[in-house]
Amino acid sequence: MPAYEPFPGAAFFRAGRRSPIITAMGKRLVAEGCGKYRTGPGPEWTDADRQSYAAWQRKLDLSASDADGMPGRQSWDRLHVPVTSAATAHVSSPVPGHAVTTPYHKRGPHWSLGYHTGADYAAPKGTPCVAVLSGSVRAGHDGSFGDYLVLRSGGFDYWYCHLSHRDVTSGSVRAGQQVAEVGSTGNATGPHLHFEKRPAGGRFGSDVAPSW
Ligand SMILES: [Zn+2]
Repeated sequence: MPAYEPFPGAAFFRAGRRSPIITAMGKRLVAEGCGKYRTGPGPEWTDADRQSYAAWQRKLDLSASDADGMPGRQSWDRLHVPVTSAATAHVSSPVPGHAVTTPYHKRGPHWSLGYHTGADYAAPKGTPCVAVLSGSVRAGHDGSFGDYLVLRSGGFDYWYCHLSHRDVTSGSVRAGQQVAEVGSTGNATGPHLHFEKRPAGGRFGSDVAPSW
């Protein structure tokens, strides 16, 4: 477990984002004398966060274009945002609030191996998907799986498939962090997350029951 929050990616910081990471970031900005908050800091990314972060970037002597208030990896790493309690929270579903709708290993002729290699979570397009464990991610595209992410953690790969949007495409993520949104890219009849687990580096067909 890292001592500090890993950089959650530039795309993480957008209007409407709510996360305990943003509260933890704001507290660090205040501690560094960079706080521009009237109230808070709170969990939602606001213009006050951006103004405070810009003050931090200026404190680091970053040039004007790099002091726009949008967090980057270098300035983030130097801010030393502590790991939030949510980082160790148990994640009960890769699509919070949604349960499995088509189970792992269900048999059927429309699956190329004759069975379902993952677990499906049907949910509207845009529903958040979160990392079930802390680890690292990579992104890819496939005709069947569409736009996908692979989370590697503890010797396993966790595949998030048919995504409509990816919040992160590489680097470290923590358990519970939003990484993507449900979609229907690739071979899908409707919006859902196909969630599959394999041994790290395992090929299609090496799937195991998707627990974590
Ligand atoms: Zn599926």
